Amino acid sequence: MTISLGELASYTDSLLEIQSTPDYPNAVNGVQLSNQSPIRKITAAVDFSTRAVEGAVTSGGNLLVVHHGMFWSGLEPITGSHYRRVRMVIEADIAVYASHIPLDRHPTLGNNALLAKELGLQPSVPFARFEDTFIGLCGESDIETAVLAASARKFARTHGGDLRTSPMQAGRRTRKWAICTGAGASADTLRETSTMGIDTLIVGEGPHWTAIYAEENDLVIIYAGHYATETLGVCALAQHLSERYDLPWNFVSAPTGL
Ligand SMILES: [Zn+2]
Repeated sequence: MTISLGELASYTDSLLEIQSTPDYPNAVNGVQLSNQSPIRKITAAVDFSTRAVEGAVTSGGNLLVVHHGMFWSGLEPITGSHYRRVRMVIEADIAVYASHIPLDRHPTLGNNALLAKELGLQPSVPFARFEDTFIGLCGESDIETAVLAASARKFARTHGGDLRTSPMQAGRRTRKWAICTGAGASADTLRETSTMGIDTLIVGEGPHWTAIYAEENDLVIIYAGHYATETLGVCALAQHLSERYDLPWNFVSAPTGL
């Protein structure tokens, strides 16, 4: 089957509700860079980076699907490493498709739904309001917090990361949890944990002060790594598109250490 970028992108835009999902201006969801050839292989990566682009080139991928796209760091001149990456994708005729919050919040392909599943948690309500949508998920459980943290640590380590937690007492149990992948510990999400009675918050990362807030408010924050917690969505999306269009796909692992 031959599939053009336009056809694949218009399906993906509607699948992820790109048009109606609010996001940060730098996310620029959807096609960020066109190409000329039909799509023959999909390469998934968390970030648009030199390692991701090189991985697409060496594996023969000509559609790079990322969570943090080409414009993530904002308006900047196309010079230095930014120039080299842009030149590499254009020379290799690789298209770039980015999906940030639409991919965080998707009910089956999203980072949050898939991380909950990975940790054996059953979500029941949305969490982490962003404008008129929710990025994360919340649910009930009865599991020792240290056991939950251990399974999150195992997951983080399979993606080149590691795990930190705010202080917790021995034997403490998690009865109501919430997940918000990436930079999920913020003043807004901590306010929600308090109003929703959440005792354990699983995120990628957060500012130092969030651990102090947690300790003083009967909350444990599990910081499982920004990179690791956002690997699942791009892989699920690439796999879904690969099945739909009968295309091969691969994942370029390029951990950031965060
Ligand atoms: Zn992120």
